Order: sequence, then structure tokens, then C-alpha cells
Amino acid sequence: MPNSFEPTSGPITNKEGFKLEVDRDLCVTLAVCLGVAPDIYSLDAEGKAVIKDPTLTNLETILESCKACPVNAIVLHHPNGKRIWPDPEVNLQGEPV
Ligand code: SF4
Repeated sequence: MPNSFEPTSGPITNKEGFKLEVDRDLCVTLAVCLGVAPDIYSLDAEGKAVIKDPTLTNLETILESCKACPVNAIVLHHPNGKRIWPDPEVNLQGEPV
């Protein structure tokens, strides 16, 4: 991860095309996501979750963090454009659910 990367709410798209975003309007700063995926998120000055690892390599853990957010503020899309979380249309493999 480049040191110059500035943590952001996203959306961030990794090299495979998976897209991750934190909805700042929904995020209520509970930091549950940090508990699940401390390597992925940090909190910004407003206490909102931001993504600090743009590689999005561990998608299983990222999906767990999406599911753990009590207000569904973390949105994950498959490279095929379908939503993995919340209100899943496809799973991580892109198969309909
Ligand atoms: S768990 Fe959800 S509400 Fe809490 S900080 Fe993370 S994104 Fe925000």
C-alpha cells in the first residue's frame, strides 16, 4: 500500500473491479467495522469510517465488515456491477443470491 494513499470513504475500485464505499450519511461512527477489519478501515476526524487499504485484497473479511455494520453503511459491488452488500444481488463469486 503506498504511503501516500489518503484514507477515503470511497468508492474505491480494486484491480479486479470490486468496489467499496462507506456511506457517510449512514455511518454512525460505531467502529464495528474496525473491529472486524482493522487493516481496512480507520476513523476520520468526524469519527466516520474511511478505507485505508485501496487494494481490497481480503474480500471475505471485507464482506464480514459490511455485514457487521449495524446501519448497512458499507456498500460492496461486484465487478459485474451487481451489489454484494447490502441487499445482496450476487455473492463474492458473482453468482445470483
Ligand atoms: S460499523 Fe458502520 S456505522 Fe460503524 S463506523 Fe463502520 S461504517 Fe460506520
